[in-house]
Amino acid sequence: MASQTNPDPAALDAAIGFALPARHARGRFARLGPVLDEILSAHDYPAPVARILAEALVLTALLGATLKDAGGQLTLQAQTEAGVIDLLVADYRGGELRGYVRFDADRLAEQPSQPSLFSLFGKGYLAITFDQAMSGERYQGIVPLEGAGLADAVEHFFAQSEQIPSLVRIAVGDSGRVAGGILLQHLPEGEEGRERLHTRLDHPEWDHVRILAETIRPEELTDPTLPLEDLLWRLFHDEEEVRLLSATPLARGCRCSDEHVRGVIARFAPEERAEMAGEDGVINVDCEFCSRVFPVRASDLDG
Ligand SMILES: [Zn+2]
Repeated sequence: MASQTNPDPAALDAAIGFALPARHARGRFARLGPVLDEILSAHDYPAPVARILAEALVLTALLGATLKDAGGQLTLQAQTEAGVIDLLVADYRGGELRGYVRFDADRLAEQPSQPSLFSLFGKGYLAITFDQAMSGERYQGIVPLEGAGLADAVEHFFAQSEQIPSLVRIAVGDSGRVAGGILLQHLPEGEEGRERLHTRLDHPEWDHVRILAETIRPEELTDPTLPLEDLLWRLFHDEEEVRLLSATPLARGCRCSDEHVRGVIARFAPEERAEMAGEDGVINVDCEFCSRVFPVRASDLDG
């Protein structure tokens, strides 16, 4: 697979939203390339850790694109009690993504090269938080980390806490630097899933689109030369109507700043700050998301 192809810029670092009105279905595709590479390059994660973060970032992009107001934030957080990975955080705001993983390198080394979700997280939980900036409304759902991967856990999240039949597929390319996914949902009563009064378990129209979406191959999700619109067409061209709703460019973004770091350090007592500082009197604080280092002179905060 060493052939040189020129990736279509529209095929990477983007999310598109679509609807199949006759089937009461809505969905999104997201695919990450350079953005994923940038995020991963800030860290030196072993392959299985980089892979799970890539999956989490695609999910974050898929879910983040569902936020109704542009200033809203979507946070995906996987946490465990005694897992090899003890914390994974990824968030989305205004098309910007960031994420990091905290893990035990020694215990990871004892895992098989393609560890299962359970072997990485043990008994863990996935929390998905929607913060709407305009209304200040915050909604959080938590599900156990079960199934073959994070995509399964997100499907369970929608089935359990939202009662929205959903299909989620994520794929990470062989290089580990391209990842893509689809989220497809059945919303017969509009997009406000939480206000649904009843849930039917048999949905012939949903079964139909779900089966079509299941034909998607991982290589299609991660093909940097295949525009997302073409993928949409490939899956649903026999449908009566396919509506393209939105296209969102995705970028890497971090919100760390000098000011924020100084604010955090200022909350420690002067003695504690003195202990944290090196011989030169400087406390070097690094941002967990982007690894940028912020030097803070301990004495600057005294007095
Ligand atoms: Zn940062």
